[in-house]
Amino acid sequence: MRTIGHFIGGKEVEGKSGRFADVFEPMTGEVKAKVALATKAELRAAVENAKAAQPEWGATNPQRRARVLMKFLELVQRDYDKLAELLAREHGKTIPDAKGDIQRGLEVAEFACGIPHLMKGEYTEGAGPGIDIYSMRQPLGVVAGITPFNFPAMIPMWKFAPAIACGNAFILKPSERDPGVPMALAALMLEAGLPPGILNVVNGDKESVDAILDDPDIKAVGFVGSSPIAQYIYERAAQTGKRAQCFGGAKNHAIIMPDADIDQTVDALIGAGYGSAGERCMAISVAVPVGKATADKLMEKLIPRVESLKIGPSTDPTADYGPLVTKEALERVKNYVEIGVQEGATLAVDGRGFKMQGYENGFYMGGCLFDNVTKDMRIYKEEIFGPVLSVVRAHDYAEALALPSDHDYGNGVAIFTRDGDAARDFAAKVNVGMVGINVPIPVPIAYYTFGGWKKSGFGDLNQHGPDSVRFYTKTKTVTSRWPSGVKEGAEFSIPLMK
Ligand code: NAD
Repeated sequence: MRTIGHFIGGKEVEGKSGRFADVFEPMTGEVKAKVALATKAELRAAVENAKAAQPEWGATNPQRRARVLMKFLELVQRDYDKLAELLAREHGKTIPDAKGDIQRGLEVAEFACGIPHLMKGEYTEGAGPGIDIYSMRQPLGVVAGITPFNFPAMIPMWKFAPAIACGNAFILKPSERDPGVPMALAALMLEAGLPPGILNVVNGDKESVDAILDDPDIKAVGFVGSSPIAQYIYERAAQTGKRAQCFGGAKNHAIIMPDADIDQTVDALIGAGYGSAGERCMAISVAVPVGKATADKLMEKLIPRVESLKIGPSTDPTADYGPLVTKEALERVKNYVEIGVQEGATLAVDGRGFKMQGYENGFYMGGCLFDNVTKDMRIYKEEIFGPVLSVVRAHDYAEALALPSDHDYGNGVAIFTRDGDAARDFAAKVNVGMVGINVPIPVPIAYYTFGGWKKSGFGDLNQHGPDSVRFYTKTKTVTSRWPSGVKEGAEFSIPLMK
């Protein structure tokens, strides 16, 4: 069986802790690899490598740093099919979906190729007599990223591409569920010309995460995962004076106005609710039809579509979605469906009994659809992260707007309507970080920023786009005066620009 170690100082090294986690192939349910779980000392070794390599990388001109990323883009294209298959086999998502996972990561690496422009500072000539002021952005040093299982290519790239482009050295702690692709990406960065030590992958669990949080040489932590861990990391990182941006879970609503194109809306809900088995932080998990007629029409069209979803192994390119990531995840989602039934919601489609012929040990689940879900139910309040869509019926627009606005999570939301006024009002007022108008998964493109509000995001700046450069750099401001601008004598009051 394959054993996955760590990627430290430009090469894969064996884990020394003697502790391992199983890496499953969700479509068969078999364990295909063991991944080492790092100790504090192994994390420290990665930091030492990063610290030693960073000053020279930080001093390398930004065009040269960008060129490494350009080469990396080329190498990922070369290995695209291989990476997508590895990703699908470790995660469970279908190969076309795995390609999308890689693509949305690459787009951030493409954005980071613009680093010579993005890192430019500001300059004011003649801010006072003989005085010029300028600012510059400098790398932080060694920074870290802790990432979730559900996008094992995209989210590591969202973190390391801008951080490295800014001149930092990076420690990636990917999910222990699917570490194969992050390890492969690190090797490709090295092949692209990145100096050893600038990108390190430390595999592990809580022990390595805590070691990152407590390490005085790590200056910033970018986290993506579930909300309780996001909050924990944000608070503990702050205690050791690190910058932290920590993105959490979600409960994304889709509001369906009476004038929405119902067929387009149903297509959107099916794709965004059940794609990737619902294991996306931008999945739609709550549909809010406005008015009884809209709700009845929606349910009539949704039910047969959910019943006819094509579930298949990750290698079947015609499958709508594949298995869940682990048996525990499958059990957790099934348990939520049972909770919904106990709470009194109407289970209009029950996919719990689904079995995949020929793959009986895989972690498959059919699509589930609840109607008449209410605000007080756990299935509404909590993130399920599976192929389960809940319909909450709203009497009017005001009630529909209040639902996502008052919810604890605030990642994404969508409105389906033909009415520009309603859409505009909704986009302005809804208390959620990312909004779609007739777009079900409004993941902003790489040159905008991505981030949820409330329990979906802790910290000040968003991921990718211009915020990523702000997050991974510190600003220095220089005020300079040349002798011809110097007045005679000492000044004892606070200097003013005259
Ligand atoms: P998770 O919180 O279980 O794990 C995320 C990371 O934290 C992993 O690297 C894991 O090893 C580590 N971790 C887990 N438990 C820990 C602990 N007790 N102490 C320290 N570290 C710990 O999340 P997951 O199951 O891998 O991913 C799914 C979650 O991520 C969902 O909640 C989903 O909504 C969220 N997510 C959010 C976004 C976003 O941008 N907001 C994007 C993708 C996924």
